[in-house]
Order: sequence, then C-alpha cells, then structure tokens
Amino acid sequence: MSIGRLAIVCLSAVIAAMSYAPQKEFGKAPSGETVELYTLTNSKGVEAAITNFGGIVVSLKVPDRNGKLGDVVLGFDALDGYLKGHPYFGAIIGRYGNRIAKGTFRLGGVEYTLARNNGENHLHGGIKGFDKVVWKAKRDGQRLELSYLSKDGEEGYPGNLAATVSYTLTDNNELRIDYSATTDKNTVVNLTNHSYFNLAGQGEGNILGHSLMIDADRFTPVDKGLIPTGELRNVEGTPFDFRKPHPIGERVDAKDEQLTLGNGYDHNFVLNGSAGSLRLAARVTEPRSGRVMEVLTTEPGVQFYIGNFLDGTIKGKGGKVYQRRYGFCLETQHFPDSPNKPNFPSVVLKPGSRYSTTTVYRFSTG
Ligand code: BGC
Repeated sequence: MSIGRLAIVCLSAVIAAMSYAPQKEFGKAPSGETVELYTLTNSKGVEAAITNFGGIVVSLKVPDRNGKLGDVVLGFDALDGYLKGHPYFGAIIGRYGNRIAKGTFRLGGVEYTLARNNGENHLHGGIKGFDKVVWKAKRDGQRLELSYLSKDGEEGYPGNLAATVSYTLTDNNELRIDYSATTDKNTVVNLTNHSYFNLAGQGEGNILGHSLMIDADRFTPVDKGLIPTGELRNVEGTPFDFRKPHPIGERVDAKDEQLTLGNGYDHNFVLNGSAGSLRLAARVTEPRSGRVMEVLTTEPGVQFYIGNFLDGTIKGKGGKVYQRRYGFCLETQHFPDSPNKPNFPSVVLKPGSRYSTTTVYRFSTG
C-alpha cells in the first residue's frame, strides 16, 4: 500500500472513531462533577446516547421504513441546554414521578412535607429530582447501568434510597429500562423516564398526526391542579378511548372537561392486564416515516402527555424550535398522588423489599 493510501485509510479510521465515540465528556454539572455521554449501538446501527446527568436519553436514532435513521427524541446537543432548565426532556424521574397533592403525605403515622414546585403541589421529585443529579455509570457493551443514592430527607422523602436504572439497547431495536431500588426506612417510590418522542424526527412538526393505541379501559380524571380525583373512569365514549388506534389530534379539541383541565392530554391511564408482568401498554405509528413504537411495561399506569406546555421558546438539537405538541410522552408509572389515595396501587417501599419495574420502548416500521 502506498504511503498516501495508508494515510487515507488511517484518517478514515480516526474519523469513524470520532463519530462513534462510545463515551465522551458531555460537560460539567453545577456540582463541578464531570458528566459523560455514553453511546450504545446495536448490531442494526440503532443508537442511543445517554448522559449520566439525570440519566437523560439525549438522542435515539431509529430507522424509518426506508432504513434511514432519524433521531426521535427531543433534547439538546450540549449539557448546557439541560442545565438552563427544561421540561424534563429524556430524564429519569424520581423519587416520585408526577404529582403529590400539596407536597404532603402520611406514612406510618408521620406526616412528610416535600418541596412544592408545581403551584401548591410536588412534581417529579421536587426542586432537585433524579433528573438533575449525577448518576454513577457502569457500561457493559449495549447496557448502561446508572446508580444513585438519594439520602434520607432529600427533597423531604424519608429513607436512604439506593436506586439503579439500567438502559439496555437490544438487537431487537428495543430500549429496555430496568428500575430498581432499596431503602432503609419506609418510603414512597415511583420511577419513570420522561422522553418526549416524535417519530417523524425531533423538531419535525407536531405529533397530532401520530396514531396511538393505549390498552386501557380506564383513566384517572384530574382536578384543576392535575391531581387525580381518585375516580377510575371508564374511557368508553370519551376522547380518552384509545383502545383502538386514533390519531392523537383527532379528538384533542373536543369539548371535554378533562381535556380542558389538562390543556390537552396530560392524564394517567389505568393499563389493562396485571401489573408486575411485562405487557403491551401502547403502540404509536407515524404514517409518513412508517416508524412504530411499542411500549411494554410492568407498571399499572402510563401518563400520556403531549407537550401542551411547549411554546416555541426552547431551541433544541440542531437548532430545531420546539412548538406546542412537538413531542409526546408515555411515562410508565404508578398513579399520580398514590401516597394520598388508598384505593390506588401502593407505592410504599419497605426495608428488606426491592422496588423493581421494567419498561421497554420497541421500535419497528409498518
Ligand atoms: C406532567 C405534565 C408536566 C410535564 C412537565 C408531565 O409528566 O404530567 O403536567 O407539565 O410532565 O414537563
């Protein structure tokens, strides 16, 4: 081989290595800690980039029906965007995903007071939830294990909670998330991931034309603070009936008290089937790209939120501006405000028991 040709071969190898950096520095957290960006790639070229700051899924590249990869999650190119404040793009949410009314609950005869960061209510773990902490990371091929010790009293919660969240990118084009936690005092736990999806590609218009199926006969109606009233309401005859697929936008402007209160869809659905077993919860199809996402979970519920509060003030990846309803979330979870709702499945974790849930986002085309 000539020296010129050898130089070209070496240069291409260096460029390839640079574009596929399995781990690179993503920036510095406010605490001064260095934060990394880990890129998981499967045998089909599907790629998930995840940072150990908040366990955020920064990008997720999956093929369309022509095999063209597109990034289907909203977010930022650099850590800076996440530090400036954002509506939980891609993040792990904890210690308690979604709302706890008035930021208080009773456990074992003791009343606990949490941060009130959403009007009078507590939302997504408080002021500095699991989305804003630096997680310890351990990478093993296509799996990234993140762990975090949430100290007794953090954001008002009782007990030291040792949490582990593992992301696995399978060769089946699935992003699998395994959540686990143990505690040394009775506490409440509800972990989820807050990715905003747009299967046409991030920043490529609103998601109202996506078709959605949710396997839920019931949902939990809310009051004006988006706290469940406690009722499990049948979806039959309402814009919340997604048991057969409907475009997300088809009924979003229907005259419906719940849609008015939620400013659109921002509700918890009570999934059919038995909680604890991994089952299909939802399927979303984007007609133009042909991309399909299925959500499987062991959780009893899923929060379907359609980015009602995005308003074009956020500039995300590649300079894309995120307008209202440019992304949807399917946050698998226990029901909001469960610590104050004895009729909802329990979220109490006791010493000696392990919290363990799994959610899979599976991608294909159709
Ligand atoms: C909640 C919304 C909230 C959003 C924050 C969702 O999980 O249900 O009410 O505005 O998170 O971005």
